[in-house]
Amino acid sequence: MRKPLIAGNWKLHKTLSESRALAAGLADNLSDVTDVDILVAPVFTAISTVVDALQGSPIAVAAQNCYPQQTGAYTGEVSPLLLQDAGCSAVIIGHSERRQLLNETNTLINQKVRTCLDAGLTPILCIGETLEQRNNDEMLEVLADQVTGGLIDLTPEQIQRVVIAYEPVWAIGTGVTATDDQAQDAHSFIRGMIQGLSNQEIAAGCRILYGGSVKPDNVDGLLAQDDIDGALVGGASLKVEDFIRIVHFKR
Ligand code: PEP
Repeated sequence: MRKPLIAGNWKLHKTLSESRALAAGLADNLSDVTDVDILVAPVFTAISTVVDALQGSPIAVAAQNCYPQQTGAYTGEVSPLLLQDAGCSAVIIGHSERRQLLNETNTLINQKVRTCLDAGLTPILCIGETLEQRNNDEMLEVLADQVTGGLIDLTPEQIQRVVIAYEPVWAIGTGVTATDDQAQDAHSFIRGMIQGLSNQEIAAGCRILYGGSVKPDNVDGLLAQDDIDGALVGGASLKVEDFIRIVHFKR
């Protein structure tokens, strides 16, 4: 039985006071949720503030990125060890915005995944095809490449600690969502890939989130699918009311 996870990616939004207010609004309204794991990923500078605001609530804090080394001469970077020290329990890795804007490769993403695991953090490994790749029938090839590339050289026990987020690039921030069937097909394929890299038991226990314009009015259908174990939410995670409704998706 996989416990659902609803994760909010705040991207490059919210000042310290706005972050504090958003976190407090979520803590006030979600304190009694026990059947879903919840986390939010603020900007680096707001992590401590948000960790403080969420003290005593069931909501965990994640970072949106990390460097694939724990310490050293890496000016401007932040390591998983320091994120763990700041109160994070997870890190979003390989988001399509970083793959596209910052040319992040599967090799770099795999290093980040492994460095996170070494620091005891949960990597949330983002994968997903562009519209062009989908239209060219390259989707499965792209997903296979990103799953394998992100998880290469991990032991089955390490793979067990990774969360995958399937985020079709064409659905991120566009208001266009994958249909329930499109998302389920991709998730089922991804679970099969994970089984190939580990075993049936680990694949059955692995959480695969859907991301891409998840909103209060489409979350119920998506999360009713067999292989969809939660959501990575961008825009709708910035509004208390919307995020609360998403966490309260129809069980
Ligand atoms: C995201 O940033 O991961 C995302 C899915 O964004 P949105 O929900 O706004 O599409």
